[in-house]
Amino acid sequence: MEKILCGVDLGGTKLSLGLVYPDGRVLGKKTVYDHTAKSENEIVEYIADLVMQLLSENDLREADLEGIGVGFPGHIRYRDGYTITTSNLKGFKNYPLRDSLSSFFRVPVRLDNDANAQAYCELRFGAGRGYDDLIFLTISSGIGAGIILDRKIYRGMTGTAGEFGHTIVDPGSDYICTCGNRGCLMATACGLTLSQMFRKKSAEGIKSLLPFPEGSDFSQVDGRLLKEGLEAGDPLCMSVVTDCAGYIGIGIYNIFQVFNPPVIILGGGLMNLGDFYFDRIKSRFYELARDMIYDPIAIVRSEAEADAGMIGAAALLLE
Ligand SMILES: [Zn+2]
Repeated sequence: MEKILCGVDLGGTKLSLGLVYPDGRVLGKKTVYDHTAKSENEIVEYIADLVMQLLSENDLREADLEGIGVGFPGHIRYRDGYTITTSNLKGFKNYPLRDSLSSFFRVPVRLDNDANAQAYCELRFGAGRGYDDLIFLTISSGIGAGIILDRKIYRGMTGTAGEFGHTIVDPGSDYICTCGNRGCLMATACGLTLSQMFRKKSAEGIKSLLPFPEGSDFSQVDGRLLKEGLEAGDPLCMSVVTDCAGYIGIGIYNIFQVFNPPVIILGGGLMNLGDFYFDRIKSRFYELARDMIYDPIAIVRSEAEADAGMIGAAALLLE
């Protein structure tokens, strides 16, 4: 029997585990939400427990596994398997996540950044099939990315390569990033900035047609609300989405100039804003790239579903 891959997507709200065939099909999975209050060691023990449960529910043993891949939502030191920092979970500062989990198993454990795992999932099973090089950008509450060169994840010196969210697209911006810098791509275009941008535009006099309660500070503005606004033709929502899309367009233009990739894949929750958003990202990109595109570049939506993080983590074992 072919060996099964185990993928663990350790997120800030959900922890997903799955048993995955080497062709990307999912054999069984488990999702829990009660890991966030636990310490690092408790989380590792919990993951080990859940892996064993998942195996026995599917009549498998550890020996049936090729190994376990873990996607982590933050910076890691790839070579020694340490997490450096994350804003999505408590702790995990210089924590030996790979070896802690390894101590429960005999099969190999791989640790990588979650966006790297998702990028690799696109390469093997998603919109990146047929390419050797690709850049994957995920746009949700934050912005993450993965770089695939010659069918391998490019990790850089430490393991933190691909942090396009912290490339600066507007140094004079009003928006300060979680990293402290002004005008990072993430500060100007991720989910966390939407309500701030909405408030600023409202104060500048753009009127919204949406029914906000009297004196609202617009803190409830998120991707879902903006989508409703777009559908209703709301000028303020359209203005926010156009600005965010424009910054992503600048971001992918910079990526294009650095890597000259054949494909850039966009994923993450904000892509649900639909064609209005995606079209403006592409038009800003083409406005900037003009006649510097010598071969066609594909700018496409992610094909991965909700399980991409987990499947990608499992796929790390195929790299
Ligand atoms: Zn930043």
